[in-house]
Amino acid sequence: MNFEVVFLGTGAAVPVPSRGTTSQFVDIHGHTYLLDAGEGVQLSLRKNKRKFQKLKGVFISHMHGDHVLGLPGLLSTMSLLGRTEPLTVWGPEALGPWLDATWRAIQAHMSFEVEFNPWGDGVEILEEGARHRLVCAPAKHRVPARALRIEEHNLPWKLDGAKAKSAGLPFHVRQALKRGESVLWNDEVQEASTWCKPPAQARAYVYSSDTRPCESVKALAEGADLLYHDCTFAERDAVRAKDTHHSTAKEAARLASQAGVRQLVLGHISTRYRDVGELLEEAQAFHTDVVVATDGMAKKVGSR
Ligand SMILES: [Zn+2]
Repeated sequence: MNFEVVFLGTGAAVPVPSRGTTSQFVDIHGHTYLLDAGEGVQLSLRKNKRKFQKLKGVFISHMHGDHVLGLPGLLSTMSLLGRTEPLTVWGPEALGPWLDATWRAIQAHMSFEVEFNPWGDGVEILEEGARHRLVCAPAKHRVPARALRIEEHNLPWKLDGAKAKSAGLPFHVRQALKRGESVLWNDEVQEASTWCKPPAQARAYVYSSDTRPCESVKALAEGADLLYHDCTFAERDAVRAKDTHHSTAKEAARLASQAGVRQLVLGHISTRYRDVGELLEEAQAFHTDVVVATDGMAKKVGSR
């Protein structure tokens, strides 16, 4: 089952040709989500050949321009292309009225409904699917911000199809076994473990958004296969990182290590670092599996 993240924009604050502002495209089992929508997001989606017309939801981490200014343009294009299915948008309280004011100002007649759900306080499940869920938790930034965890759950057991066919297992028995249940058939209790392989290990991706290192993001990232963490600065600019409510490479890597994250992706990179080798080296002293994000980089969650 596919679980992939595409880092569309990996720069901080100001877009430059080599790094756009923040946005990510996530595909989990065919359900697609956009995490943040920096300026130029719709062109990045097209360049990376990712379809946006069927997006299931958009998560906005906070109301800073480099995370949100691309959203009205994207939604407007979706409307021009004739989307009719409602779209769920999660974000800070101010996002809904801002979008409404934009539609009024440009006299847009949206072809679909934007279902805005402001996130509340604390840790919160935003969406619960049959086999995946979205959970957000507070980040520590200059304005209210949320980090997001996208994780799998209730994965199916893998039925031995040939064995099931030759035994003539009826449909309802197969379905129960795939859910890992024991089921009565032919006057005998059939155990899932007799007919199926156990489910694959559930995978998790965590997006820190813009943040200082904090307990809340660390708890959300616990045991994740992949963590994208704010790495706006190198440790030599630690004072600046603190003043602007961002993180350094060292801080990101230390948090990832403490949370038992398998792979760390450093992102939200300031344009002041022409050579990102410095950031990488700094992080590698605290975590063994680190990469620096680049625009257009795609990562399968749970594989190297
Ligand atoms: Zn910010």
